[in-house]
Formats: sequence, C-alpha cells, structure tokens
Amino acid sequence: MIQQQIGLIGLAVMGENLALNIERQGFSLAVYNRSREKTDAFTAKRAQGKNIQGTYSIADFVSAVERPRKILLMVQAGKPVDAVISQLQPLLEVGDTIIDGGNSLYEETARRSRDLEHAGLKYVGMGVSGGEIGALLGPSLMPGGNKTAYEELAPILTKIAAQVADGACVTYLGLEGAGHYVKMVHNGIEYGDMQLIAEVYDLLKHALGFDHQQLHDIFSQWNTTEELNSYLIEVTADIFQRIDPETHHPIVELISDAAEQKGTGRWTVMSALELGIYLPTITAAVEVRSLSAAKQERVETAKLLKTSIEPYDGDIPVLVNKIRDALYCSKICAYAQGMSLLKAASDRYSYAFNLSEIARIWKGGCIIRAKLLESIQTAYQQNPDLPNLLVAPEFKQAILDRQQAWREVVSVAAQVGIPTPALSASLHYFDGYRHDRSPQNLTQAQRDYFGAHTYERTDKPGVFHTEWTPIDAASLQTS
Ligand code: NAP
Repeated sequence: MIQQQIGLIGLAVMGENLALNIERQGFSLAVYNRSREKTDAFTAKRAQGKNIQGTYSIADFVSAVERPRKILLMVQAGKPVDAVISQLQPLLEVGDTIIDGGNSLYEETARRSRDLEHAGLKYVGMGVSGGEIGALLGPSLMPGGNKTAYEELAPILTKIAAQVADGACVTYLGLEGAGHYVKMVHNGIEYGDMQLIAEVYDLLKHALGFDHQQLHDIFSQWNTTEELNSYLIEVTADIFQRIDPETHHPIVELISDAAEQKGTGRWTVMSALELGIYLPTITAAVEVRSLSAAKQERVETAKLLKTSIEPYDGDIPVLVNKIRDALYCSKICAYAQGMSLLKAASDRYSYAFNLSEIARIWKGGCIIRAKLLESIQTAYQQNPDLPNLLVAPEFKQAILDRQQAWREVVSVAAQVGIPTPALSASLHYFDGYRHDRSPQNLTQAQRDYFGAHTYERTDKPGVFHTEWTPIDAASLQTS
C-alpha cells in the first residue's frame, strides 16, 4: 500500500487549508475527520486530484502514514485533543510524532508532552497563526516540544510557512509548551492591537464625525506609514469599504457589537498575573470584550446614563495626526507588554526564548504582522537582555516625540465621553514604567498599619514595623 508522508486530523477551516498548503509544497497526506461528511466533501472538492488520501477510521488513517509517522492535529482545543490522542496512541509506535497545531493551553501541552514522551512518542505543540488564508498560503508557525521531532519536521514546516526576506516564519521555540505559550502571547498582543484600533475608530467616527469613506482613506494612508503598516490596519481599511448589498449600509455598522473570545487572551492575562507582569493594554482588551458581551445591560444603562457626545471643536486634521501618534505609541506598549511576558515566562519555565527570532517569525503570515516587528527584531538582536522595548533606542525617542499628542488624545476622549481603555492603559503603562517613585510607599505603610506586614526603608537597610496605633492594655482588659 502506498503510504503518505504526513497525516492530518481535523478538516475544519484550518485543517483543510493547511492540508492544501502542505500538498502544494510537494508532500503527500492522509487525512481524517471525526464526521465523515467533512472528509467526503473535502476529498470530492478542494482535494480532488491532489496527493491527499481521505480515510474513514483512525486505524486506516494510521496505516496510511509512513513511519516514523508525523501526525498533525487540527482539532478544537481542549478535550478533543486528548480524545484524539487517546484514540491514536494505541496504534502508534515508538518514534512516531504527534503535532498539535491548535490553540491549546501551554500547560496542557506540557502535560501531554510528558505523558507521550514517557510512552516513547514525540510531541510537538505548535501555534499556527494567519487564519484560513494564512493556513492556505503560508502561516506563521510557532513550534515547541521535542527538538528531534522539530528537526524531522523542519523540511515541511519551512516550506509551508510564510516567507519573509530573512527566512521562513518558523523556528524551534523551546521545550514542552513553549510553542503554545508564544502563540498565546501572540494572541494577547492581537487582542490589544485590535482594541486600540477599535477605540481609534470610535474616536474618528463619534468625536470627529467621519464617514466610512473617510475612515477607509485614513486607515489606508496610515497603512503606508513605517509606524502603522500592518495586517490589522490593512484589514480595517478594507472593512470600512464593504457595503451590505441588501441595505446599502456599511457592513461594519450592521454587525452586533458583542465581541466573542475563545480563551487565549484570557490565558495571557492569567499567566501575566501569575508571573507578576504588568499587562494593562492586553488586560483592557480582554475586559472590554466581556463588557461588550453584556449587551442588554448596556442598552438599559444607556437609557439612564447616556448623554450625547459633544463633537470635538478643535482642529480636526491636527487631531487626526495626534490620534495616529497615540495609536503608534499604544501599539508599541502592547508589543512591549507581550515581549516582557515572554521574557518572564522564558525565565520561569526555562524556555530560553530568543525574542529577536520570535519577532522575526511574526513578520509574515500571522495576524499581528507589522512593519514595527522589524524594529523589535533589531532591538532584541542588539540587546537580547533588553529589559523592555520602551527603552530600546528604536522606540525610546519615537515615544518621547509623540507623548504629548498621546496625552491630548486620551484627554479629548475623556472630555467627549468616549471610552478608550486600551489607549489609556497604554499611557499608564508608559507613565508607570518610567516612574522611579511610585505611590506604593503609602500602600506599604497601610499594609503595615493594619496588618503589621512590615516595610523596607529608603534611607537604611532592614525590615521595619511601626506601632501606628499603640494598643491600649487597659482597653483590651475591659473588652
Ligand atoms: P475548530 O472549529 O476549532 O474545530 C473543529 C474540528 O475539531 C473539526 O474537525 C471537528 O470534527 C474536530 N473535533 C471537535 N471535537 C472533536 C472530538 N472530540 N474528536 C475528534 N475531532 C473533534 O476548527 P478550526 O477553526 O479549523 O481550528 C482548529 C484549531 O486551530 C483550533 O485549536 C483553533 O483554536 C486553532 N486555530 C484556529 C484559527 C482560525 O482562524 N479558525 C486560527 C489559528 C488557530 P467534526 O467535524 O467531527 O466536528
């Protein structure tokens, strides 16, 4: 029986497109999906005439893949991954590799990795970014786990990944859950970046009264700049131009404002809390999606509390440029927070991340690809121990030059009553990070006052406690 070079399980959006990408790069595949209709539809249409063999049982699927087997899972994250692994495991042999290409939680990947390695199998947890188009034409791939397995997979992965001037958008990231950790943080930055753009849209539309053609023109122009050129700005410009054929209204205005989330943004924030990393822009973006989901409550509250937004009465073209500057500074902060989290996770979990390489593999294929990543790559190339992007020469002056504009935009938004949680949180990040004297000396005093938690002093070493409220022995005896 002719065997295929790689197997793929899960023929939903991502699986189908990755399978076609792999085949187009010259590798044969066996594919399997839990419900057979998807396999039927795929093999009859998009995969017809291609080097892709449909199979209808896990046993047939496993037999159709050449040894040592490489099996890529593109199934829903969570329990389905464990379900598929438990069906596969009895049929696999020592030396075979399972690759989980879904958005799995890094801790689950670490657990699966340990269990399967113990059984003699190799396990790779690989983040895949780029949506369906990326999967088909070249995604950014973030693999971690078994290094030997990665080396065996590299000829395939380097071909199917997006290609940028300095190579394929794939690199080995580290042990166990390293790849899924990087993908999680990628998604966290994506949440932050999307929220910043949404707030800018709100300001341009509701404070400045721009229509959709004007919004399209502004975002298209911004996409030509060094600072803002990025996939997310490009798709935003495109969205503003799309008109609903039925109603002739811009489609974006017909879309419900309750945003959904699948978990990677929340996981990013949870990990940051655990590692003690300040992540305000990304946290704001995750929280705002929760608020947006409370649609009915917002509708009711608007009837009670909403006052009309006062149109901005200053110089509009000048403010538009300031909004662009505020967006750029805030965007730097979102990436700075993500990179800081990666640095902390690298230390905690011994991932040994190369932050410059991570910036490089995000330059193509993925949702957060942006011109800005070239400067991030350079910053970490020049100084791998850079404590924060904000102090990199590439970004330090850029922010200092624009900070006044940024402050004005946040204050205009507050004055006209448009919420800008991510733009404001980014400014707080900048201001908080550059302050050498925070007010937490008072917090320490309060903790010591009511809980005798002690404090350190600025003028001498040691641990101190003050008797803030001397206990009156007499009152204790009478109580
Ligand atoms: P999905 O909707 O997340 O998952 C659907 C696939 O999972 C189907 O093939 C489904 O099989 C299979 N599945 C679900 N439960 C199963 C179970 N218990 N046993 C076996 N198979 C099961 O698909 P997707 O959007 O293509 O995403 C695949 C993975 O890539 C996910 O982890 C996702 O988070 C990640 N991802 C998605 C995107 C995106 O843009 N969509 C981007 C990057 C990463 P049936 O057909 O039988 O139901």
